[in-house]
Amino acid sequence: MIIGARQTFARSLGLLKRLKSTLVIAEHNNEKLTPCTLNAVTAASKIGGDISCLVYGTNCSKVAEEVSKIKGVSKVLVAESEAFKGFLPETVTPFLEATQKQFKFTHILAPATATGKNILPRLAAKLDVSPISEITGVQDESTFVRTIYAGNAIQTLKSSESVKIITVRGTSFEAAALGGSAASEKLSIPVEKSSTSEFLGQELSKSDRPELTSAKAVVSGGRGMKNGENFKILYELADKLNAAVGASRAAVDAGFVANDLQVGQTGKIVAPELYIAVGISGAIQHLAGMKDSKVIVAINKDPEAPIFQVADYGLVEDLFKAVPAMTLLLTKK
Ligand SMILES: Cc1cc2nc3c(=O)[nH]c(=O)nc-3n(C[C@H](O)[C@H](O)[C@H](O)COP(=O)(O)OP(=O)(O)OC[C@H]3O[C@@H](n4cnc5c(N)ncnc54)[C@H](O)[C@@H]3O)c2cc1C
Repeated sequence: MIIGARQTFARSLGLLKRLKSTLVIAEHNNEKLTPCTLNAVTAASKIGGDISCLVYGTNCSKVAEEVSKIKGVSKVLVAESEAFKGFLPETVTPFLEATQKQFKFTHILAPATATGKNILPRLAAKLDVSPISEITGVQDESTFVRTIYAGNAIQTLKSSESVKIITVRGTSFEAAALGGSAASEKLSIPVEKSSTSEFLGQELSKSDRPELTSAKAVVSGGRGMKNGENFKILYELADKLNAAVGASRAAVDAGFVANDLQVGQTGKIVAPELYIAVGISGAIQHLAGMKDSKVIVAINKDPEAPIFQVADYGLVEDLFKAVPAMTLLLTKK
């Protein structure tokens, strides 16, 4: 049979398409999917090819069902074992290595969260490839964009690794839509409990407020708040806006608030619709964590404060006057 050039091209395109297969590692607590997984799926869809999602946990069938509804996911791989308790990287990594051996994915993605950052570099080392951390963009299947030097420079890198191990910055990709209906497959890969570490328990901070990295609005306080007590006025404003409360590192280091509120290079990366920086000077390390917010409002008594350079709206005022006045205004509304 003679095949025309156009057909050959179309066939090789089809082959290429089939050759690309991405695994997205779902993040969850056995009950609910962590929303950043949806952003990782969007990054995967920009790579192209087939997308499978891996859900492993102790009792995670509910999560697997949730994942099967994500648009763009064609298969959900499910693994349940008591050994996954605490998601210890020492247990998870050999399991992921075996999964990769079986399926031979071209790309493995996970959200760039504490969990993803704990597991993927370890997997990359085991597979003897360089991990690609915290991508903010996908140019093609092997070219990725990420920030370097605390967000002061943007790097575009081309990877020639046989399998690309990638963590994804959730705030840089839209959340994938729901409405899909992917098939599920139970994995029979054996899971070995780590002999070096054991999960004893965890204490998680509980809050009725929206979670900092997924909140639509964030009100952050800095050293200008003077002490932890004064954060009360930020909580009052946050309540009116259904916002999460964040902080600069100076505020955290001074003990005003807990360190899980820190926004910035060494804290959390946020990109809400609205970010209100109160008594924060705008050091580059803080900006690295919030400058992608859609609308930035800064309240600072120093008109020269660098935060005003990135702010869409700036108010040069004493925060102890401005913040209660804003809360009052929102109360009257
Ligand atoms: C390796 C490294 C990593 C870092 N990571 C982070 C990070 O992740 N996140 C982070 O935030 N920082 C980080 N930092 C620290 C960063 O460099 C700054 O020191 C810090 O962000 C400053 O916090 P701040 O703006 O609250 O304090 P300051 O710089 O002291 O600013 C306080 C501001 O409050 C204003 N102010 C004071 N009183 C009032 C008032 N009554 N009304 C209105 N305004 C008032 C002042 O004018 C001033 O602008 C890092 C530093 C290093 C070296």
